[in-house]
Amino acid sequence: MSSDVFRIIPLFSGSSGNAVFINFAGTKILIDAGRSCKQLSEALGQVGESAERLDAIFITHDHSDHLSGLDVLVRKFNHHTYATPMTWRGIRNSQKKPHSQDLDHEIEPWKTLRVGCVDVTPFPTPHDAEGSVGYRFESMGRSFALVTDIGHFSEDVKRAVTGTEAVLIEANYNKDMLFSGPYPWMLKKRVDSDYGHLCNTDCAKAVAYLLENGTQHIILGHLSQENNSPSVARREVMDYLLDQGFLNAPPFSLTLANRHYPSTPILLGQDSFETTTLSPSIAPCRIITEAGSTT
Ligand SMILES: [Zn+2]
Ligand SMILES: [Zn+2]
Repeated sequence: MSSDVFRIIPLFSGSSGNAVFINFAGTKILIDAGRSCKQLSEALGQVGESAERLDAIFITHDHSDHLSGLDVLVRKFNHHTYATPMTWRGIRNSQKKPHSQDLDHEIEPWKTLRVGCVDVTPFPTPHDAEGSVGYRFESMGRSFALVTDIGHFSEDVKRAVTGTEAVLIEANYNKDMLFSGPYPWMLKKRVDSDYGHLCNTDCAKAVAYLLENGTQHIILGHLSQENNSPSVARREVMDYLLDQGFLNAPPFSLTLANRHYPSTPILLGQDSFETTTLSPSIAPCRIITEAGSTT
C-alpha cells in the first residue's frame, strides 16, 4: 500500500462492541478492542490488514464494549497499548490473565504523543467511566477524531475536534424511542444524562458545528440497538442540517458505522470523494453507507 494513504475503517460500532482501525501513511492504529480477539483479527483480515501488525492500540475507557478483546489481543501479539491511569485500572480488574506491562503506556488528556508518523491527542469526554477520553489523530495535515460515549458535546470535545477533517461521532439514541422503550427508568436516565450518551438531535447540532468548521467526513456511530436505527439516526441528522440551511454547504460525506462488520473505508486526501446530497427534491441522501438491517 502506498505510504501516503490515509484511511479510517470502523470495524464494529455499538454497544455490542467498538473498534476502529486507521492507517495513516503506514502507521497502523486500533482504537478500542470491544470484540473478541478472533473477531477483531477476522475483521482486520477482511480489510486486508492483520491484528499482528499494529503499531499501537488506544483505549477510550473501561466499559466492556470497548475492551472485551484487549486482554487476549495484547497477550497474543504484544502490542503497545495506551490508556489513562483510571482506564488501566479498569482493564486490569477485568482481564482474565495478567500480561507483561512493558508495553502498557499511561496517557494524559491534552498531552500529545507520537506513534510512527501520527500525533495522537487524548481529550476528556463527559461519560460515566472515570478517565474516559476521545482521541484526535494528525499526520501530514490529515486528521481524524473519535468521539463516542459522550453525554453532551462538551467544550473540551468541541475544542479537540474543531477543524478535524474526519470525525466519527456518536448518534446513540432517539429520545422518544429511549423513553417509550424497554429500559428500566434508571437506565433511561443514565443514558440521557450529561455523562451518558449522545442523542440524535444533539449529535445533529454537533455535526452542523463540525461542518461549519471545516470537517468533510462525518461518520455516525455507536447507535443503540434498542433505542435507535440507522434510518432514524440518519434522518434526524439530515433533517436538522436541511433545517439549518446546509443545502449549499461545501461537499461532505455522511456515513454510518456498521454494528457487526467493517464499514467502507473513509479515504482522506482524495481529490474527490462521494458526497452527501441534502436536496429534498431528489433522494434525501444520495451517497451514504447503509448499515446492515441487524444494526
Ligand atoms: Zn461507555
Ligand atoms: Zn460504548
